[in-house]
Amino acid sequence: MSFEARRRRLVEGLVREGVLRSEAVIRAMLTVPRECFVLEEYREWAYIDTPLPILCGQTISAPHMCAMMCEALELRRGMRVLEVGTGSGYHAALCAEVVAPTGEESGGFVVSVEYFTELAEFARDNLRRTGYDDRVHVVNTDGSCGVGSRELFDRVLVTAAAPSVPRPLLDVLKPGGVMVVPVGTRFSQVLLRVEKREDGSVQVQSLGGCIFVSLRGRYGFEY
Ligand code: SAH
Repeated sequence: MSFEARRRRLVEGLVREGVLRSEAVIRAMLTVPRECFVLEEYREWAYIDTPLPILCGQTISAPHMCAMMCEALELRRGMRVLEVGTGSGYHAALCAEVVAPTGEESGGFVVSVEYFTELAEFARDNLRRTGYDDRVHVVNTDGSCGVGSRELFDRVLVTAAAPSVPRPLLDVLKPGGVMVVPVGTRFSQVLLRVEKREDGSVQVQSLGGCIFVSLRGRYGFEY
């Protein structure tokens, strides 16, 4: 079966299970080729709904987790998104396909931050090969502190487990913005949807249990 057919079957399953709901995220999941973001030796596994090892002991998240997080973020065309934990670049490409669809002028873009230089290079290469390098900018630094600028984002996506909601990331979230972040111990977490209201107050909603690799750096587990 072709990768495209496998991709379609996976997405249909996620729609049936109620994980995928919005047209824009479904379209993005059908468009971004996950097989181009996994290591060569795992290409045949690309459409099995499981995390897979990448470099530096890290993992590309399972497709259902990417889908859940994208849905919870309520991404719209034209938004500016900050992702902490680029890994393979796959999730960044998914977000980019929603906020800045291929072939359209939307003004949307994704800044994605990766701690490991080797992974930042891996992701840049994957994004270049798949045509997302014009909408995803990969920064190699400790993203738990943000990107080192005062720029504000409509959405913040954290794809590594944090001990608490990193304060600097809340600070770069626009009023009215949404952050999705796994918070807990190094061994298990709860996926949180954090909404910053217009008055600056914060509303937190739990979306259920999850397991991510640890966030490193200043606001992570290993500093
Ligand atoms: N979103 C990725 C999967 C991420 S796995 C994908 O689609 O493939 C979590 C990633 O977070 C790993 O690549 C890890 O190196 C990175 N990470 C951990 N701590 C970080 C930090 N403080 N700043 C930036 N990236 C971090």
